[in-house]
Amino acid sequence: MKRSILCVVILLVALCAVACGPKREATEEPTVTPTTATVTATPTVEESTPTPTPTEVPFTPTPTEEVINNDGVPEDSGCFRIKLSGNKEDHFLTTRFCYIESEKYFLLLDKDLDLPGDFTKQMDMLVDALEEVTGLSYIPDYKPDGMDCSTVHFGYDPWREMEYNNKIPIYIFVDREGQNLISYASNMHAVFISDELTSEEVWNSIPSFRDNPYRRMNFIDYYPIAHELAHTITLRHGWYTKIMTEGSADYFAEKALKSLSDKSTDFAESLSHQMFLTAVRDNITPQNAEKMFTADYLNLSHAERGDEYTLGRMICKYLAETYGDSFFKDYAKAVSEEGFPMEAGASGLWFNYSEANAIRQAEVFKSLFGDDVFTKFGEWYQKQR
Ligand SMILES: [Zn+2]
Repeated sequence: MKRSILCVVILLVALCAVACGPKREATEEPTVTPTTATVTATPTVEESTPTPTPTEVPFTPTPTEEVINNDGVPEDSGCFRIKLSGNKEDHFLTTRFCYIESEKYFLLLDKDLDLPGDFTKQMDMLVDALEEVTGLSYIPDYKPDGMDCSTVHFGYDPWREMEYNNKIPIYIFVDREGQNLISYASNMHAVFISDELTSEEVWNSIPSFRDNPYRRMNFIDYYPIAHELAHTITLRHGWYTKIMTEGSADYFAEKALKSLSDKSTDFAESLSHQMFLTAVRDNITPQNAEKMFTADYLNLSHAERGDEYTLGRMICKYLAETYGDSFFKDYAKAVSEEGFPMEAGASGLWFNYSEANAIRQAEVFKSLFGDDVFTKFGEWYQKQR
């Protein structure tokens, strides 16, 4: 669970005028990252596997191979296109803002990232796997609105001139001030802060990072990436309760990585380092399961979050076992047809449905999976413990 509970889903309202409120909060929120989640995350394993000293000199691209169509691109623009070699052994060190375009997404890259040459290949596989396990297309009939809101860029946007069309903008940032910035996602985009992809030089310039080797895996941890991309893909098909939003992202991230675990050691390691809990602090019973669902952990502060991930993931697991793999696709279709609104919580930023809408979502569940779905889930949950 190193970072799985750190992610947030942000309701990014495309209109800049509306987004000005969330802008400040998005910048501030990462600074209150629940440090306990990081500190307590698999400490034994992490501390026993310190980051190895890199033996390779950063790969320098040849212009014909890796840097393309960039005549006249200003130095401070992110519209500088690169292409990775495809070989895992190669490294591409980003010395300026740039991007990579793939079939289904754009990677929008900060400076000082150290990318393995096969990174795009791995990301391609991950997006494909997420579509497969969710049963949802990354972009079926949805066209994201403009992306000209600096909320998503921690205050700067060198990619503002980019045209994303229907592809997913995936931002990868370096936490160069050591602020413990966190990854997040919306229906439009996904934003990652990657420890493993941060260049050795920048990493070693931040004492709190350099002196805590457990922070940095010796593989690329695709779990948080899978979790956030699962958000983007599922949210492009509907709005869900907090439990179902976070639970489905965890459930599908795990499932996608399982399906890829024989494709690369990074995927296998990402999966094996996750700790998937099977119980929440409240005892879920046949009697209270529906009430827990509709309460939706609305009153949890950010630092106390966590149970919604576990409970939601267990609900997904139960539904998949009982109704088949299309359960989420059916649920997404039903809530979409019901016309659930995008609804922000008190902060205007976090994805919190009101109880009234959570109750409506429970009714959707019953119409899809039977009136006794919550009772049956409570019974199943008790058997898992
Ligand atoms: Zn999440």
